[in-house]
Amino acid sequence: MSELLTADRIEEIAALGSESPDPAALVAELVGAVDEGRVADPDDTGYALLVAVDILEQAGDLADALTLATRAVAEQPDDNAYARAVRGGLLLRLGRSDEGLTELTALRPLLETDPKSMYVVDELVESGHAELALEWLTGALDAILERTRTQQHASEDAQDEAAAMIYGLAQQRHDLREEAGLPHDEYDNLADRLRAASTHALDALDDGPATLLFWPKAEFDALLVRWPVLAESHPPTWDEHRTTVERAFVETSARGGADLGLVNGTVDGLAAFAERTGSDPTSEETLDEYADSLDEAGVTAWPPGRNDTCWCGSGAKYKKCCLPRSRG
Ligand SMILES: [Zn+2]
Ligand SMILES: [Zn+2]
Repeated sequence: MSELLTADRIEEIAALGSESPDPAALVAELVGAVDEGRVADPDDTGYALLVAVDILEQAGDLADALTLATRAVAEQPDDNAYARAVRGGLLLRLGRSDEGLTELTALRPLLETDPKSMYVVDELVESGHAELALEWLTGALDAILERTRTQQHASEDAQDEAAAMIYGLAQQRHDLREEAGLPHDEYDNLADRLRAASTHALDALDDGPATLLFWPKAEFDALLVRWPVLAESHPPTWDEHRTTVERAFVETSARGGADLGLVNGTVDGLAAFAERTGSDPTSEETLDEYADSLDEAGVTAWPPGRNDTCWCGSGAKYKKCCLPRSRG
């Protein structure tokens, strides 16, 4: 029996992507494992297929990408909105506009309810439908703002979520309009005000964690080996660690935080810091102070651009790495 395809390996392939000298072999490895039922966690089947779709897409093989995207949709009957969006984008790029627009239009309501649904707009933009994307962003903003005006008794959670969505939709719309050379309108002014307000809010949040301490993969593994007691305050796997960091950023930014960033910890660095300051390297206080001490060496800003390399160091694009997985 052949080897199981683990989530780590899928991750690794996603990071290698089309830059690998032999992308076809990576696609074959993913699809082979799916075909033969060798995906270690069957819940990752759709993910494995979507990574293969991405590699094929970048190689320009849109027809095969579409076949696999269709399989991915079928593999995830309960949670396939992202796969359907990818499929819709491929149909558009293949010139099957009616089918593509039907697929994406069915997902359009998510823009009003699901803060992680911006991929619907991305697919429109990437297939040359920026104007339609702007129309949908405007419509979603109209709808959410109307809802917040009429629902006086929404829960605090619902209000926070609406605020986060208004922020995200307005920023995306602002940037798309700027790229199109359009002048500022009322919503663009709103986007600017929200951005400025969140910067001020963060300045006021003196005790808020503007900078988070992140352990790159090798360091995280070494950290728990060197100081096993840290397993009590840290998640068991690196995957969960970066998910926790991403979530903390999302929450801080939804509360109005801006200028967020992370510093990369190292085991040797923490050991040296603890020795220098005569403190216990496993206490929360020392970890906070160690993080502060790294500020000067440079902070990686969060969030990266959607198409930029992910902050976690995986090498994959942010929108395909920590952005979607931490909001699922
Ligand atoms: Zn502006
Ligand atoms: Zn990542």
